[in-house]
Amino acid sequence: MNLIAPFDPWKNQYCTCPGKFSLSAYTGCAHNCLYCYATSYIRNFSSPRPKKDFTKRLENELKRIPAGSIITIANSSDSYQPLEKKYKLTREMLLLLKNYQLKINIVTKSILILRDIDVLKDLKNIVVSFTLTCMDKQLAQKLEPGLRECPLEKLKAISTLSKYIPVAARFDPLIYPLNTKDIKEAVKALSDSGVRQIITSTYKTKPDNFKRMCEAFPEYASLWKSLYMARGERKGGYNYLAAELREKLIGEVKGAADTVKLKFSSCREGFSGINTTSCDGSSLFHIS
Ligand code: SF4
Repeated sequence: MNLIAPFDPWKNQYCTCPGKFSLSAYTGCAHNCLYCYATSYIRNFSSPRPKKDFTKRLENELKRIPAGSIITIANSSDSYQPLEKKYKLTREMLLLLKNYQLKINIVTKSILILRDIDVLKDLKNIVVSFTLTCMDKQLAQKLEPGLRECPLEKLKAISTLSKYIPVAARFDPLIYPLNTKDIKEAVKALSDSGVRQIITSTYKTKPDNFKRMCEAFPEYASLWKSLYMARGERKGGYNYLAAELREKLIGEVKGAADTVKLKFSSCREGFSGINTTSCDGSSLFHIS
């Protein structure tokens, strides 16, 4: 199986991403986010492991990728999860990528990325998509129990990264009503930290992530069952909130982004008409 694979979000009818590739040094992820979608399709997901002979295989595969291609690192794991402290495969990957004319989009929610700022600065065409789920420290630790980083630490990290690299913030998933009270405050804080774009999406349920969410937040279980199962929509193997509620929540994030004059996009919601730029931050590459 190739390390670099065409990005294909299960042929999701709402995906508006440009053609791109996906790459990760690890299988699985230790951040253990309750809402994670990847746990439903990757075996032993919460026991992450490095990919075998990663750097050697990557060297061979990179030679076959057309110049100018977009590579997202990574879609189904966080490249700056705890394993990276030991193996440093993401750092090795970035050092290799310096030799290629590719557009690199790093998706992470960990401040460990700051360790590699020396290499990131040298990459010719790079965007970081940094995820902030909420502004509340306790809620963040409950939603992302494997990631012991508080929202303020993340904002500081974004602020540092933004001095050197274009950063798009992923304020998602919106989990009504857990983090949807935070919208204006979060978008303003992200703007003050120097991000250039806000990307958002609502939480979608899969049986396993829904079970984790209901066990962690039993007080919301019946509300979510009603919103997702009784009144929601079934799309591409996920349960979505009803379009009206999604549109309201996404519209609130768009309104907050407009207020602080940031680019805005929604991801896989069916509302691409309100996006002001490409959905995945790729318009921030300095050479398009
Ligand atoms: S960081 Fe991403 S891949 Fe890792 S557990 Fe959280 S949602 Fe899943």
